[in-house]
Amino acid sequence: MIRAVVTDGAHHEVVVVGGGQAGLALSYHLVAAGVDHVVLERDTVAHEWRDGRWDAFTLVTPNWHCRLPGYAYDGPDPDGFMGRDEVHAWVRRYADTFDAPVAEGVAVTGLVPRDGGGFRVTTTAGTLTADAVVAAVGGYHTPVVPPWAADLPEHVVQIHSHRYRHPDGLPDGPVLVVGTGQSGTQIAEDLLLAGREVHLAAGRAPRVARRYRGKDCMTWLAEMGVYDLPVATRGLAKRESTNHYVTGRGGGRDIDLRDFARRGMHLYGRATGVDLAGAPAVTFAPTLTADLDHADSVAESIKDDIDRYVAAHGIDAPHEDRYVPVWRPDTEPERLPLDRVASVVWSVGFRADWSWLGTLGEQVLDAHGHPRHVRGLSPVADLAFLGLPWLHTWGSGRFHGVAADAEHLAGALLARRADGTWAGPEPELVGAPAGV
Ligand SMILES: Cc1cc2nc3c(=O)[nH]c(=O)nc-3n(C[C@H](O)[C@H](O)[C@H](O)COP(=O)(O)OP(=O)(O)OC[C@H]3O[C@@H](n4cnc5c(N)ncnc54)[C@H](O)[C@@H]3O)c2cc1C
Repeated sequence: MIRAVVTDGAHHEVVVVGGGQAGLALSYHLVAAGVDHVVLERDTVAHEWRDGRWDAFTLVTPNWHCRLPGYAYDGPDPDGFMGRDEVHAWVRRYADTFDAPVAEGVAVTGLVPRDGGGFRVTTTAGTLTADAVVAAVGGYHTPVVPPWAADLPEHVVQIHSHRYRHPDGLPDGPVLVVGTGQSGTQIAEDLLLAGREVHLAAGRAPRVARRYRGKDCMTWLAEMGVYDLPVATRGLAKRESTNHYVTGRGGGRDIDLRDFARRGMHLYGRATGVDLAGAPAVTFAPTLTADLDHADSVAESIKDDIDRYVAAHGIDAPHEDRYVPVWRPDTEPERLPLDRVASVVWSVGFRADWSWLGTLGEQVLDAHGHPRHVRGLSPVADLAFLGLPWLHTWGSGRFHGVAADAEHLAGALLARRADGTWAGPEPELVGAPAGV
């Protein structure tokens, strides 16, 4: 990595905002094409992999999915799952392989179009100008907690999954984990393995089996091309969908909430609020039975797809018996008294923060606050996005698909440079109802 210095008033052909895997993947192509650019990273390269994950974190995607332009996982365990620090180091090493020009500790705080084209980029280290700007800032900015979190009594310690590190970081006593996406389920398991009393409010996230018929399910899905299907063919609502839960811990295994319950975890439906009347309690919707069934049905439907693929291609894959539920709730618990809760881990996701786009946000964000784009190219010429979940495919927000998106975007930026074309969606009048 080349430590770039931000000089007030300097001009670059391209400013890349964000030094995670997405920003680096684009930088790789820009370096190769000799495009003058700088990657601005407000913290340090790839820090999200270190700072936003817990101690026992492992990838949920097999190591072989880790392939960035000109750089692929080549360690001893392609079917294994790197731990937090290994992933962090792996991505940081990437920046060194092609001398990415990165300015660490420089945040972009504002962006305005310039007369005659390009942008003025305000940063914490001075103001730059650029012909093009690429936002590669990830999709997980502001941790979400429900409004009723403020109603919890003071003795209950609250943290977001983004800040959870280790069971010992929470006060002694029972923990309520809210949310069963990838983070919530893995954190709940982390606490269970540490012998903690765990209460888990389950949501509607689907699950996927770790392995089926001799292979990792994510390897099957990759072979089947599922991660490469454009989001447009699957319905744009897919962008809102929660990823399937499973873990890479211990070499990789299923996460089965029913098994957690068998091992002593207390399961609930969706958490709905705090009832302060009488003995204060967290309240839950009667959704547990249906959501456990839903998670299983998705896992089984993925196996159906694999079976069809195996049959259609005449693949010699061993037969495997299907899942049989190992536990069912007797009742739908409605309340958890708060005198039984010492801490809450909110694992209900993140909201994107595009405030630094300033008034440009009115042109590029839709009514839901999502960037409008065609494969990353926004309606504002020379402003692009990369690394967003479902930017183009399921793989786009993960290691699996970001390389293809970076290559496409680099091609588009070079075409723009050569002949002035910009293949983003048509700009609409500011204030007009925006579609995705
Ligand atoms: C808990 C969790 C687990 C995941 N597990 C997997 C997995 O197993 N496999 C997989 O393939 N993917 C996984 N992902 C998804 C994805 O790979 C990661 O989110 C990855 O970090 C995305 O890389 P990125 O470069 O797009 O964004 P990020 O890594 O978030 O990088 C964006 C960078 O932009 C910087 N930035 C933001 N705003 C500014 C600004 N205004 N100015 C300057 N810099 C800025 C940030 O500091 C950050 O370093 C996971 C995501 C999460 C949240």
